[in-house]
Amino acid sequence: MAKQAESYTLQNSILKRLYFQKKQSCAALSEWLRKSIPVVTKVLNELVEEGYVVNNGYAPSTGGRRPLSYSLNKDKGFIVAVAMDQLFTRIVIVDLSNCQASEPETIELDLHQNQDALNSMAEAVRTHIDRSGISRDQIIGAGIGMPGFINSREGINYTFFEENGKISHQAYLEKVLGMRVFMDNDSSLTALAEWTFGLAKGHKNAMIINIGWGTGLGMILNGELFRGDAGYAGEFSHIPLSDNGVLCECGKRGCLETETSLLIMAEKAVNEIKRGKTRHIPLKDVKYMSDIVMDAADRGDQLCIELLSHVGYMLGKGIAILIHILNPGLIVLSGRGAKAEKILMAPIQQALTQYCIPKLLENTDIVVSQLGKDAGLIGAAALVVENVDIYKYNTYGRS
Ligand SMILES: [Zn+2]
Repeated sequence: MAKQAESYTLQNSILKRLYFQKKQSCAALSEWLRKSIPVVTKVLNELVEEGYVVNNGYAPSTGGRRPLSYSLNKDKGFIVAVAMDQLFTRIVIVDLSNCQASEPETIELDLHQNQDALNSMAEAVRTHIDRSGISRDQIIGAGIGMPGFINSREGINYTFFEENGKISHQAYLEKVLGMRVFMDNDSSLTALAEWTFGLAKGHKNAMIINIGWGTGLGMILNGELFRGDAGYAGEFSHIPLSDNGVLCECGKRGCLETETSLLIMAEKAVNEIKRGKTRHIPLKDVKYMSDIVMDAADRGDQLCIELLSHVGYMLGKGIAILIHILNPGLIVLSGRGAKAEKILMAPIQQALTQYCIPKLLENTDIVVSQLGKDAGLIGAAALVVENVDIYKYNTYGRS
């Protein structure tokens, strides 16, 4: 019995490694797992035979014998990835090569004072799965990123969903969706995506800034996603850096978010348009305005450039604090606002030059995510693979 359990551990470790690394040779797997090449070869051959792993033939030569390269059979399982923010929820199903296996869907779902938000999301996920044509027994689990104070161990979102008292939000979702569900803070999942598949891959100390309705932060410290004592680390939004006196969502005044939130920037744009400050951009509901402002700034609209530049400058002030305290090697600008990099980067650099000690600043690279708005979905899928034993699931999870 013990021998069997150990063997499955190895199988699951290999499958997980292949998911995160895409391709590996037997030698690389053997080194990473600290198991002998004959042991790893035997398990790999079994996994190929059982259809979990694909042998891709010989990898390009790097001198010496060319190694065989292995990857996951992408159709051996599917993952539901959900990225919620305060106003919109995105849903997609991905395969084990992280490619989208369903048409991504965005629904409007305002989480504020919405007692039905959890049910609405679950219903949308159920409908999405039905429409995708992917059978439920092929789905390994669902990963859900959401804003707010979340205890991912307990599976509770303390900010947005009503407390039930008897059953956690996660357990409730598992019941109504009929599958394993994992949930975490949206900025932590953005950081996980950047760290596993994005520009922070391989970095020991990296800060991932999630520019959106709030200003989230995921911290990779000493090669781990740092969560703090109770799991709430990284509340970058609420560091007191502003003197604008604006009341923040958290109930305090002075929060960075009141200067850097894209929603607040959008509200400013709406007010300025109403005052006739620009005639070049359409007036729409505030939740659609941040994309309109970012696109207009890109085309050279002066008002939009000013609004975004202010966001960038204040972000830069916040980043200066992170650099001074944590000395990260890398800062990744990610999330909804990353697409405004052309406008944001200059004021961020200006604030850093103004407030950062040069010796510390020169050690830190500042880059813009290449995962774009998909970072949250990629992180949600990675959360499932981190927590589910793919091999075991397929052996025991199906009837
Ligand atoms: Zn606040």
